[in-house]
Amino acid sequence: MIYDAAIIGAGVSGASTAWQLSHFDCKTVLLERWADVGFGVSKANSGIVHGGFHHPVSSLKARLEIQGNLMFEQLQYELDFPFSRCGILVVAFSEEQMVTVRKLYNQGIANGVRNLEMCGRDRLLELEPKLNAEVVGGFFAPNGGTIEPYRYVFSLVEGATRNGVELLCNYEVSQAEHNGEYWLVTAADGREIKARRVVNAAGLFADHISKLFGAEEFTIHPRKGEEYLLDRNSQARPQRVVFPVPTKDSKGVLVIPTAEGTTMIGPTADPVEDKLDTTTSADHMQRIVSLVRQMVNGITPRDVITSFAGLRPVLDTEDFYIDRSQKAPHFIQVAGIQSPGLTASPAIGLYVKDLLKADGMTLTEKTEVVQKLPPRREIRKETPETLAELHADDPRWTHVVCRCENISEAEIIEAVRKGHTTLDGVKFYTRAGMGRCQGGFCSAKIMKIISRETGIPMEELTKKGGSSRLLAGRLENTTIDPMPEK
Ligand SMILES: Cc1cc2nc3c(=O)[nH]c(=O)nc-3n(C[C@H](O)[C@H](O)[C@H](O)COP(=O)(O)OP(=O)(O)OC[C@H]3O[C@@H](n4cnc5c(N)ncnc54)[C@H](O)[C@@H]3O)c2cc1C
Repeated sequence: MIYDAAIIGAGVSGASTAWQLSHFDCKTVLLERWADVGFGVSKANSGIVHGGFHHPVSSLKARLEIQGNLMFEQLQYELDFPFSRCGILVVAFSEEQMVTVRKLYNQGIANGVRNLEMCGRDRLLELEPKLNAEVVGGFFAPNGGTIEPYRYVFSLVEGATRNGVELLCNYEVSQAEHNGEYWLVTAADGREIKARRVVNAAGLFADHISKLFGAEEFTIHPRKGEEYLLDRNSQARPQRVVFPVPTKDSKGVLVIPTAEGTTMIGPTADPVEDKLDTTTSADHMQRIVSLVRQMVNGITPRDVITSFAGLRPVLDTEDFYIDRSQKAPHFIQVAGIQSPGLTASPAIGLYVKDLLKADGMTLTEKTEVVQKLPPRREIRKETPETLAELHADDPRWTHVVCRCENISEAEIIEAVRKGHTTLDGVKFYTRAGMGRCQGGFCSAKIMKIISRETGIPMEELTKKGGSSRLLAGRLENTTIDPMPEK
């Protein structure tokens, strides 16, 4: 079998491309090196749908950001992931900073962003009472928002696979050869696929993949961003994303009301060498807390429950590089997808689809597609009446496994049955383990459920695939008594 298109990388760029292609009569395969999708840069970011004012419209990233931003309501309707258009405030605390605020505002207007509003101090405090009262001025971008990035990737991939795209995980592309008709793409474990066209959406490793295919040479420079998650009960949660004035390398350290009701602060922006270096440090946490306290009242280091870091895949040009290769046949580059890659991703999918068409791929619309995923049941959002009905039907709906985030056994089973069989896969799909105790109380229970549902022995379960085994040795009693079914 020869695929019409193989997409390397199941982050937001590859997943969005797969979702777009799944509407056409073509055979597509999505290749991902990790055990699950979205485990690259796409799981470790600020989750912001940016407002289209940070970059000049002469850049490809600004054009796709603006187009992508407009697509989220429709996508949320179709794919059912947490998204909130809560709005963005950019705030200044001195007249000097106001100069940059005005520049950003004017850039947004020049980019065609609608409804931007320059604000004085009183208007800002009306829009966000938790702002530090010493704020001087700023602007409001009601078109900005937040999404849950991993749920977004899972939904894109679920939609694409329901429409016939094939997903191969644990497929680390390690060799490629073109025989005049198709690419033979070989994985590190020896598996092979054939594809007429290849899309390089490999994030931090897009430079490596480009080299493997004999395409353009470029270097991806990782730029680390540390993020700190606050307790769900923190008093500091604002209603809108609060931005400072940006620096040369980043949009600054923000306060983010996440789409799932928690608060996040960050990110930093530091160049690093190692593409797998996702360490965080106490010093950086202190620096971030002190920076955000200048903007929003009430944030304390005691609110921080966990930290993580993501690496932005940055090119020398600082722009996205999305184009047909001039060197390798039928090879599309999707590289340098740093921020605002998440925001731009719906438009990246469309753009890549058009490049494939320009490359000669026949794209005939399918007559029947799954256009809307069935809504997911999440017990933390249900009424007591519905919970009683669910319990009567199957008591696993009310058997709460993760108490911090209120996640039931039935939700965990659903995640496992959808193919999320690592601890992180279940966590990102359901939120089990994301709360105050960070999995301290529920991880072992979740592992037992994964093992029971899949038949994978406990000692072979992993945190995120590969060698990330969770247990050092064998346990004698590894079963969990199933809840009685009705
Ligand atoms: C700290 C931080 C904060 C950010 N905040 C925002 C934000 O608020 N808003 C926003 O719009 N953007 C934000 N971004 C940017 C955004 O996260 C990225 O632009 C986006 O996630 C990139 O997605 P991607 O699919 O291109 O790459 P990835 O998500 O990295 O996907 C690439 C995939 O390719 C796979 N892969 C690599 N090599 C191989 C191989 N050999 N074989 C098979 N598969 C392979 C990887 O495993 C990975 O899953 C942020 C980024 C960071 C780091």
